[in-house]
Amino acid sequence: MDVSARRAFNLLKELAYVRVSGTEAEKKAAERLLEEVKSCGVEARIEEFTVKAGKVNKATLKVTKPYVKEYEVTGYERSLSTPEGGLDAEFYYAENLLPVHLQNCKGKIVLINGRLRRTDYEKLQQAGAAAILTFSGTTLDRISETDCDIRKLREMLTDELGFNVALNMRAADAAEIVRRSATEMHIEVESECFDATSRNVCAVIPGKEFPEEIISFGAHYDSVHFSTGVYDNMSGSVIIMELMRYFAAHQPARTLKFNWYGSEEQGLLGSKAWVEAHKDELDKHMLMVNVDVAAATLGSNYAPVLATEGVVGYVDAMMKEAGIPCKVELDIYSSDCIPFADQGVPAINLCRFGPQGAGYIHDRRDNLRSGYLDEKALDITLQQGLMLAKRLDSAKVFPIERKISDDIKKKVDEYLFKKK
Ligand SMILES: [Zn+2]
Repeated sequence: MDVSARRAFNLLKELAYVRVSGTEAEKKAAERLLEEVKSCGVEARIEEFTVKAGKVNKATLKVTKPYVKEYEVTGYERSLSTPEGGLDAEFYYAENLLPVHLQNCKGKIVLINGRLRRTDYEKLQQAGAAAILTFSGTTLDRISETDCDIRKLREMLTDELGFNVALNMRAADAAEIVRRSATEMHIEVESECFDATSRNVCAVIPGKEFPEEIISFGAHYDSVHFSTGVYDNMSGSVIIMELMRYFAAHQPARTLKFNWYGSEEQGLLGSKAWVEAHKDELDKHMLMVNVDVAAATLGSNYAPVLATEGVVGYVDAMMKEAGIPCKVELDIYSSDCIPFADQGVPAINLCRFGPQGAGYIHDRRDNLRSGYLDEKALDITLQQGLMLAKRLDSAKVFPIERKISDDIKKKVDEYLFKKK
């Protein structure tokens, strides 16, 4: 049996629905992936893990001075609720949170630019903001064609820094509020926090020559709100399914594991849980190959490597030898490779990025109707993955040193906010 981009793309079409962490839809996708694995006669199971989840039942924002107008907002999942009757406070636009801004945040509803990064959240908590406002999208967005993004106060923020009230709004509305010099507003948030279950789908094909040497292939199958996640990352999920089919029919020399991770979009929670649950076998893991985003018709191939310059040279040479154009670089990648590299397992990512205007991610445009993905483009990464997998699996001596360069270690630590 050979790999088939058509079959892969058909499975992608079947799973082209919103699959947010800890939801029924994510569970349904996991079950479908498991069924597909089992239909190839491969041993597999679902491994559950708990995620901190939240639901916002009500979120409103009304400017009360010097004019009165209500704006569309979404509450961050796991936001604090406002007191009974809501919260009335002064509004302050703190831009990029410079010291001058921070001096003015206390007790106010504070709007900032961009995403709520951990460093920003820390500053806002210390400055005593009464509530946090972020905006998403662009000032050009048409309401009928865009969504007001739903975000989450991740554990990464709340565990150490505590909870706060957090809301998100549209960029055009945020601009209007600032332009019209809003000074006071009324907000209401009713939010619940709870534990939810997310899942990794895990398959194993034992090796016949070097069963103690493990190569794992990974791809996350969850999506964010409003996004059907066909590009990010059902494309990668169906690619590793094809690789698994190939090795189900051609027994590998080494033990190959195939993992479809849940909850990647919430902070790599699936791969973190997997690594934690499989700690005792990690010293046998020679390499992790992660596929996250592919199938973009207009695009380019990129392979960030979390290992050493030696591995970069090796992968780069293999791509050239096979005539596959691919930019190979020593760098981290914000995906499930991180928890592996953190445990000393080298990782290679295979990605095909759509360029600006033809690579939509993390919103409703990541959808088959957007016309930016196709099976021929998916085949590029599929063939790349197959070439890499066959070469590595059949190597007489495993060619990748089990080592992570100091530069990558440092970047991984920073990514995971590890204290020095
Ligand atoms: Zn992704």
